[in-house]
Parts: sequence; C-alpha cells; structure tokens
Amino acid sequence: MHPVPSPYLVPFDGSFRLADAPQAPPVDAPSEKKLEDHLDDLNEELADLQRVLYAHNRYALLLVFQAMDAAGKDGTIRKVLRGTNPAGCQVFSFKKPSSEELDHDFLWRVARRLPERGRIGVFNRSHYEEVLVVRVHPEYLAGQNLPVAEPGTEAFWSRRLSAIETWERHLADTGTVVVKFFLNVSREEQRQRFLARLDEPDKNWKFNVGDVEERRHWDAYMDAYEAALSATSRPWAPWYAVPADDKDYMRATVAGIVVDTLKSLPLAYPPVAESDRARFAEMRALLEAQGG
Ligand code: ATP
Ligand code: MG
Repeated sequence: MHPVPSPYLVPFDGSFRLADAPQAPPVDAPSEKKLEDHLDDLNEELADLQRVLYAHNRYALLLVFQAMDAAGKDGTIRKVLRGTNPAGCQVFSFKKPSSEELDHDFLWRVARRLPERGRIGVFNRSHYEEVLVVRVHPEYLAGQNLPVAEPGTEAFWSRRLSAIETWERHLADTGTVVVKFFLNVSREEQRQRFLARLDEPDKNWKFNVGDVEERRHWDAYMDAYEAALSATSRPWAPWYAVPADDKDYMRATVAGIVVDTLKSLPLAYPPVAESDRARFAEMRALLEAQGG
C-alpha cells in the first residue's frame, strides 16, 4: 500500500503538530550494529527493486528531502541509495534560484529535474523551499517579480501550498510516485553538530556562518514546516517526519519506507511477446551452432 504505514507518516487531515513529532528514536530502537545490518539488507532489497522498476518502465520514484541544516540529508541520500545502479538514479540539490529560474514560475526548475519513468530521482531541497525559506524571509519574494499586489499574505501562502498539492497529484496520476521526508533534527542536536564542524578539522569545510545565523529563525522555520507538511501530506504524496537526532535510526527508517513503497507498487518485468518467445528455440539453436 502506498503510502506505507509508519509511525512517522504525517496525517492527511491537517492535524499534524510538529511539536509532538519525535526527534529522538524510540527508547526500544535497535542497537547501532543492528540498524547498520538492517540498512545493508534494505540496500540489497532496494537494488533488486530498482531493477524491476527500470525494466517495468511505468513508474518513476521521486524522493524529496527537506530539513534544517546539519540534519543529515546528504549522508542519508548517500547511504540509502548505496547499492543502487547509478545509471538509474539522479540526485539534484536545489540552491538559491538563478536569475533564469526566477524568471519562471517556482515549479519550473523542479519540473525540469523530475525522474524519467523507470528511474529514482532525489531532490535534496525542492520546491518546498518556496514555502519554507521564502516564507521565513518574505523579502526574497521581491526578487520573484510576481504579478501579485501583496505577496506574502496568509492567502498567498495557502495558494502556493495548494498549487504544490495539485501539482503533486498530477505527478502521481501520471506515474511519478512522490515520497517526501522531513528529517526532524532538534535544535540542540543541530548545535552539537555545528560545534563538531568547528572542532574537527575534517569537518571545518562544512561549517557555514550563515547556517548559524539562520538558527535564530528556528521557530519561524518550525511554523513554516508545520504548515507545509499539514497542507501537502496527502495519500498521493505523503510526508514522513523522521526523527533525525540519531543518524543510524534515521537512515534505516528512510530506507525502510523507500523499500516498502516500491514493494507496494505493481512492478513486474515486462512480458515477452509470444511471437518473440516462439523464436527462442530457434535462436538458441543458432547461437549453439555458432559455438567454439
Ligand atoms: P550543504 O549540506 O552542502 O550545506 P545545502 O542544501 O544546505 O547543502 P547550501 O548551498 O548550503 O546547500 O544552501 C542552499 C541554500 O539555498 C539554502 O539556504 C536554501 O534555503 C537556499 N534555497 C534553496 N531553494 C531556495 C529558494 N527557492 N529560494 C531561496 N533560497 C533557496
Ligand atoms: Mg548548507
């Protein structure tokens, strides 16, 4: 069944409260070693499922990742997709929009990066930035040249959210299976990870002054995330708000949801046409006669 059941599935009725969503794993979570072994198994399952997805060539799988800085998007994408065939995967990281991108509607740049049938596409950040960072910093709207008298009102954001909801429904109807992950890291864990980036020379390159400044807007981000997840977690494009304070638990949880989602699809290797099959014996004889 898509969406697959999970304690982290964001309800479809708008009742989601981010303050109630766990950031730490449950107390009875498996040990680190067990989670790593489980992730290895899921990696193998995903590799097998990807082969059928590709051969079947009816569905595309789109995985959307959103999170606060240092929540672990990159590492999760790397570890969940490890083992898949790179030829059938594509990962795009969306940064601040270019002037060409700003000259189009906000869905244009993401639409261009959608996975083709048979493929797995990953969005590291996505169109959701338009209702997250832009909502927290409405001054960015000035650069968008919108034909709207007053952008940034409550009504403006709800129209944007409903545009996203409708667009994702269209994707689902036309064969793109959309699964969205919010990696839910706590403010304290983010602080510890930023400190580690300062302390450990190998991590210094990841340190970004702007990220620390952005922390000041934490509560505004949480409000924007809650509004976005409530308005757009739908049966055709579910959100999962996955606890992110423990990376092993987060990665195994995400991988499990991805594997279960693919398993819930009616994937199959394409049937061989009877006219082709009828010639198998003839072709075998031909190849065998050419041997040695
Ligand atoms: P890393 O792990 O490498 O830091 P990142 O995703 O944080 O990855 P950055 O280049 O540090 O990448 O940041 C990208 C920035 O672009 C983020 O601050 C994000 O909020 C911003 N951004 C993305 N999309 C938009 C958008 N549509 N409008 C404005 N800002 C955006
Ligand atoms: Mg960054």
